[in-house]
Formats: sequence, structure tokens, C-alpha cells
Amino acid sequence: MNVPYFDLPAQIRALRPELDAAIARTLDNCSFCLGPDVTQFERDFAAYAGSTHCVGFNSGTSALHVAARLLNLQPGDEVITTPFTFIATSWALAYVGAKPVYVDIDEATFNLDPALIERAITPRTKAILPVHLYGQPCDLDAILAICRRHQLPLIEDAAQAHGARYKGRPVGTFGEAAIYSFYPGKNLGACGEAGALVTDRADFAERARSLREHGAKVRYYHDEVGYNYRMEGIQGAVLNVKLKHLAAWTAARRRNAHRYHTLLRGTPLRLPLEATGAESVYHCYVVRHVQRDRLREHLEKKGVGTALHYPVPLHLQKCFADLGHRAGDFPVAERAARECLSLPIYPELTEAQVEYAAAMINEFTGW
Ligand SMILES: *Cc1c(COP(=O)(O)O)cnc(C)c1O
Repeated sequence: MNVPYFDLPAQIRALRPELDAAIARTLDNCSFCLGPDVTQFERDFAAYAGSTHCVGFNSGTSALHVAARLLNLQPGDEVITTPFTFIATSWALAYVGAKPVYVDIDEATFNLDPALIERAITPRTKAILPVHLYGQPCDLDAILAICRRHQLPLIEDAAQAHGARYKGRPVGTFGEAAIYSFYPGKNLGACGEAGALVTDRADFAERARSLREHGAKVRYYHDEVGYNYRMEGIQGAVLNVKLKHLAAWTAARRRNAHRYHTLLRGTPLRLPLEATGAESVYHCYVVRHVQRDRLREHLEKKGVGTALHYPVPLHLQKCFADLGHRAGDFPVAERAARECLSLPIYPELTEAQVEYAAAMINEFTGW
């Protein structure tokens, strides 16, 4: 049996008639940059995400860059964030000259450990930027309590967490603003690059719309230095088609996670866990094993694709060498980077494929 790590062709095949029609409409109306499909998507995604405003972007990275601009972060400002995430979380800070101040993660959830945040706060700290990694909500109660105590704004990186809930409320609604990514591999993906910023603050939404369009509220009158970060019309059309399926896809991901859990419980693998009050959308299903690379090789040979999210924590990336970090600075994140293994979890996965993948894992562990 063959179980690819991710099967985008299967998803596109299933939606092909709907996507063809939506893209054809955009070709007819020629609204290629923003336009009615993007506006409709912004309205529908805001409702889905539980936010008042949604501003469409050409990537999650650019949405996060604009979020950093909304907070008026200046060179030398510090932002507390996680070293265990995709690099883009820290790009937003690097782009505005702010300094990422890393805090180690919680062993069980892979998310920022709230118990370590306060000792990292200094007079230069300007915000907290956690990630709902793999679709699992952070410990938002604890993080928000710290934000309130120190009067720090919270920006949520929800790039992997479309539809995830914390104590029944959608993530991305707890801070000043949140960002989403619609990269094709995300739980909701465009046919190309796209992202969004959501917020309940009208002033933030208005300024974000201006910043994504060359810093102009009125065409050719530029109030501040802005960007060309507009969402493409075709991506808006594609996302409108796909958003209708997102709830069913999330349910399928959760069903697959539950199946893995049942089949792998009791093995030497460490399985992902849903923290109290957290409802994960399983962008990734990440297990841990001390012999991760050997397990990965075994699965590869048996036709089961896997991935590493992520093999190098941000504080040890070459691009951030000037932060002066060394191996050992964030031991929990470093251990996670050595032991993590992402199993196939996408909605199109069949029950037989999950059973096969689990059987091949159990063959390796001898369970
Ligand atoms: C994907 C991702 C981003 C960036 O989104 P793009 O749309 O690829 O620019 C940011 N943060 C996290 C955690 C991500 O997974």
C-alpha cells in the first residue's frame, strides 16, 4: 500500500468541476487583484473565524508583517515568541527590525510554555506572538493573564489552526489580531499563495487594508510606506469554493487523529495530546520517538510518507546567528526537533491507509 504524506492531487480532483467554474468566472470578470471574490471570502472567513474583520493577503507571511506594522514595532523592540515553528513567525519581527525573544515550549503540546514567559519580559518587550502549532491552541488563559498583567498586546499566529477552538471559542479572536495562511498545504489552501489578517479592531482592519495596497486609502495618495500584498482574485475564488468544505475536512482530520490514537496507544511512541480546553484541527499529527530517523526510514521503505515539522528550531537557524544563541538554550524545543515525526493526516486518507501506517509503525517498534 502507498500512503503519501500529503495528497493534494486527490483534493483538487474531487473539487475540479467547482474550481474550474470559479476560476472561469474570474477569467470572465477580470478581477485579478482583490475584487468581488476576495471581498466575499473576507466576509465569509471573518464569520468562520469568529472575527469582525478579515483582510485578505497574498500570503500568511505578509499578513504577519503587516500585523507587526500595526503594533508599530520599532528596531530594538522585543517580542516574545516560540523557537519551535515555521520560520515565517519570526520573519515578521525581522522585517521591522524587532528582536524575537524566544521562550522554550511545553513538552506535551509543542506550544509556548506560559510558565517561562514572564522571566523573559523586559522594558523593551512590546508584544507576545505565540503560534497554535499543528492546529493545537496555545494555553491562551495563561498567556492572556500575562498580557494583561504587563499590558502587552497579543498577536496570534493561527496559520495552522483554521477552525481550532479554545474553550469553545475560535483561536485568532483572543488577541489584537491574528493571521492565517492559505498556502496549498494548509488546512484551507489556495491554488497558489494567500493569507489573511483577522481582527475585531476597525482601526487595525482599515490600516491593514491600506498597508496591503501601497499604504494608500485613496488610490495614488500614499499615507505611509506600504506594500503590494493584495490577495489575487483567483485565490479568492478558489478559497470560496474550499471554505465550504473546511468543516468536513476538519472533522475528517480529527477522525484520523482519533484512529491513530487508538491504534498506537501503548507503543513506545509519544502521541500528540489535546490540552484541556483545546480543540485541535490537526494540521499535523506529530508523534515522537528517540530513533526518529530510523523509524522514518522504515516507513519510507514501506511506502508511508512522513515529514519533519521542524528539524531545526529558529534560534539555531543560520539567518538568526546574530541573536547569539547556542545549542542548549531551549532544550525542550531542541529535543522536539530531534524526535518529531509528522504522519499523514489529511482528510482524503482512508481508514485502510491509517491502519496500514499504524501497522508499519508497530512493526518497527515491535509492539
Ligand atoms: C505557513 C505558516 C506561515 C506563513 O504562511 P505563508 O502563507 O506560507 O506565508 C506562518 N506561520 C506559520 C506557523 C506557518 O505554518
